[in-house]
Amino acid sequence: MNVFYTQPDQINTEYLEITGDEAHHISRVLRYNIDDQIVVVDGIGHKFKGRIIDISKKNVRVQILERENLSDINGHNQRLVLGLGIIKHRQRLEFAVEKAIELGVAEIILFNSRYSEKSNIRKDRIEKIMISAMKQSMHAVLPVLKVENSLEDVLEKNYDYKMLIAHEKYDGNTGIPSDVKKEKNILLLVGPEGGFSEEEVATVKEKGGELISLGPYRLRAETAALAFLALFI
Ligand code: SAH
Repeated sequence: MNVFYTQPDQINTEYLEITGDEAHHISRVLRYNIDDQIVVVDGIGHKFKGRIIDISKKNVRVQILERENLSDINGHNQRLVLGLGIIKHRQRLEFAVEKAIELGVAEIILFNSRYSEKSNIRKDRIEKIMISAMKQSMHAVLPVLKVENSLEDVLEKNYDYKMLIAHEKYDGNTGIPSDVKKEKNILLLVGPEGGFSEEEVATVKEKGGELISLGPYRLRAETAALAFLALFI
């Protein structure tokens, strides 16, 4: 079943409007017509079933028939934030973002780190990937995307989160300690291709972060991000 997306400000009590690429996709690609029923999410936890009452290339007007509040917004009883060192290889970065959305992350923070390549992030492009991953995986909440200039900035702005850092040089036990699973807010840190510097790891430990092993093999950053999040399913 196709799920479509529109911003909350396009929705009122009886009707919602879909514009832009999404309207073009509905009208010209999928060729929906008046009276067809569609499902729409608003990215902040609501799902709508509606009937198309007007349709053009640029605009689809829908009469709302049913409205559903998806309470547990991302399938977890805790808020997972992925802090990911900026992966230089664009497709690999976009893969990591897409998998994180599918796996129910609530927020993604991309950060420049000691060994990440200083690359400019195309936020608009990444946000498009996030929207389509949200729709495809039937999530109704569009996670937040942030970009920070350093790991220190990430730690400073998320000081109240339980911090876990995936580190391939850590040979402790794999998996998530049971007490951590009770935490409400968790920040999962994964390094870029070049990994974390020893200073970065030390800083996270100083601030109470715990090291997590994802097994004995050296995973690519995008694989590590996926494996890390999958531990919380
Ligand atoms: N530092 C290595 C590899 C970095 S892999 C190098 O220089 O090639 C990128 C990130 O994936 C790491 O920073 C770490 O966060 C994560 N990672 C990869 N394999 C891992 C493992 N076996 N256990 C925990 N984290 C891992």
